[in-house]
Amino acid sequence: MQNPDVKLDDDARPTGRIQRANSLAGDVYEAIFQQLMSLKIAPGSRITVDNLVRELDVSHTPIREALGRLEGEGLVIKTHLIGYRAAPQITRRRFDELYELRLLLEPAAAAKAAAGLDAARLAALQEAAGVMTRRDGRDERLRYSNFARQDAIFHDKIMEFAQNEIIRETLNHQHTHFHIFRLMYHSRVTEEALDEHEAILSAFAAGDANAARTAMRVHIENSRDRLLPAFE
Ligand SMILES: [Zn+2]
Repeated sequence: MQNPDVKLDDDARPTGRIQRANSLAGDVYEAIFQQLMSLKIAPGSRITVDNLVRELDVSHTPIREALGRLEGEGLVIKTHLIGYRAAPQITRRRFDELYELRLLLEPAAAAKAAAGLDAARLAALQEAAGVMTRRDGRDERLRYSNFARQDAIFHDKIMEFAQNEIIRETLNHQHTHFHIFRLMYHSRVTEEALDEHEAILSAFAAGDANAARTAMRVHIENSRDRLLPAFE
C-alpha cells in the first residue's frame, strides 16, 4: 500500500515551486501591463529587456515570459534579431472598423443574452461590473489597467451568455479593450462607462431584451465618441 505521507510530500514540493514562479511571473506581467496601458511605455516604442531587469529588479526569465504573454495579447510585438516594442497605437481606420464591428455584434448579443438570463448569470454580470466601481488602491495606473481588463471581462461575459462562440471569439481576437483604453489615459474614459454599464445591467435585471440592445448600442457609441479626440 502506498504511503500517503510520501505521496503528499512528492506532490507538494514541485507545486510549491510552480506557485512561487507563477506569482513572480504574474507580478512582472502586471507591472509591464500597467506601463503599457497607462502609456508609460509609449505605443510603438522599444522595450529593452535589460532596462526592465534593472527597473523591476528581477531576472531575464520572468520578463521574457511576461513579454511573450503580452505579445499574445497584441500589446507587444517581437521582431527577430531586433527585439520587443510596444504595439503601435491603433490607426483611425482600424478604430472605425472595430467600432463598426462592435456595433453590429454587441447590441444584438446583449439582447439575446437578456432574453436568456437567469439569476445566476445576472449575478455574474453584476459582480463583473461591480469590480470596476471599486476605487481601492491609490495607484491611478493600476486602477486604469484593471478597469480595461474588467471591462473586457464584463463584455465577454455578455457574449458568453449570448451563446454564440464565433461572435465571442471574433471579438476576443481583436483585444479590443486593451487597444481602445490605450488611446487615452484619462479618468473620464472609465467614469462615464460605469453609468452606461449600470443602464445595461438594469435592462438585464428587467429581462428587457430591447432595452439591453439600446443600452449596449449607446455604450459603444459613447465609448467611440469619448476616444475619438485621441486622433485629433
Ligand atoms: Zn464597457
